[in-house]
Amino acid sequence: MATTERDYYEVLGVDRDADDAQLKKAFRGLARKVHPDVSGEPDADERFKEVVEAYEVLANSETRELYDRYGHAGLKSGGFRPSQFDLGNLADIFSAFFGDDMFASATGQRRGRGGDIAAEVEIELVEAALGAAREVPFQVAVGCARCTGSGVEPGSDVQRCPTCRGLGRLQHVSRSAFGEFVRTQPCPACDGRGQLVEHRCEQCDGEGHTLEERRLEIEVPAGIHDGQRIRISGEGHAGALGGRAGDVYVRVRVRQDPRFVREADHIFSTVDLTMTQAALGAHVSIPTLDGDVDLEFGPGTQPGETRVLRDRGMPVLQGFGRGDHRVLVNVAIPHQLTEEQRALLRQFESSADEDTYRADEGFFDKLKSAFR
Ligand SMILES: [Zn+2]
Ligand SMILES: [Zn+2]
Repeated sequence: MATTERDYYEVLGVDRDADDAQLKKAFRGLARKVHPDVSGEPDADERFKEVVEAYEVLANSETRELYDRYGHAGLKSGGFRPSQFDLGNLADIFSAFFGDDMFASATGQRRGRGGDIAAEVEIELVEAALGAAREVPFQVAVGCARCTGSGVEPGSDVQRCPTCRGLGRLQHVSRSAFGEFVRTQPCPACDGRGQLVEHRCEQCDGEGHTLEERRLEIEVPAGIHDGQRIRISGEGHAGALGGRAGDVYVRVRVRQDPRFVREADHIFSTVDLTMTQAALGAHVSIPTLDGDVDLEFGPGTQPGETRVLRDRGMPVLQGFGRGDHRVLVNVAIPHQLTEEQRALLRQFESSADEDTYRADEGFFDKLKSAFR
């Protein structure tokens, strides 16, 4: 695609003489901004890929030189191919470039922010209306106390990795028409740690961290919608070597209530009146978010009539007031009649005349005026 041919410096918004720190800063900021999860632009994937590729090329002095001298064509004939990242995972991409991942860097002597944790709670619609307190269980990685996060069994020997001479990375040099071309990758002999351990820590099996069960009390705010997330900062996985802990994101699922339909902050429900109740009038108990409410329906109530209970809907999240609750009347017509009941109905029908069914404004007129 043509978009991949844009100037890398332009893509990152930096000068041609930008140093490492400037590149890194520009990339971090941009990656967070254009990441498909947050950007919402239709071409977010392409745009993000472009930013990652630009940084990958410019952050490496060899590919940067190649690009500076020969442009995109130089990279192609030099054998450069952009790395394939899981674009959905920003943390993975950052950790590939900066080593932010606490697990990979525990013995790599790098400080890093801990990973985020996703948790979930489910609440009833009625609880969502009032707000609810919930205990959320989750597993969190904490630094191993036995080896203080190094992954090395206390008293055991640690050797510098001979394969990478302690660097944790291996460089592959390939030659091309444009000169030497160097790519680096984590050392497979030591998993990028730079050292070989005689005995792994028995407590954490060399991982440097252990999993701990935790519970967190969270307040679900009134009016929350299904699928919204609550962020609790600093309660996620421990950071590496004193780095900041990650965050916990709790997704709130609001269970459907068979009695109600929620639309934004409004609530809809139906009430079934029997034919006789509708004709004679009745008091009926209606379930609402605040409990049962007694409603009076006058004689001659028609199917399709609605009652609006103002401010009985869902509270507005982080706002004021509540939505409405609308009750739609349904009139139940009998399905099965005994011989005696049929006779009574026939008798009723023969006594009825035009006036019996006449209303000031008929149901269909009302419906029509509702649409006007
Ligand atoms: Zn340990
Ligand atoms: Zn090594």
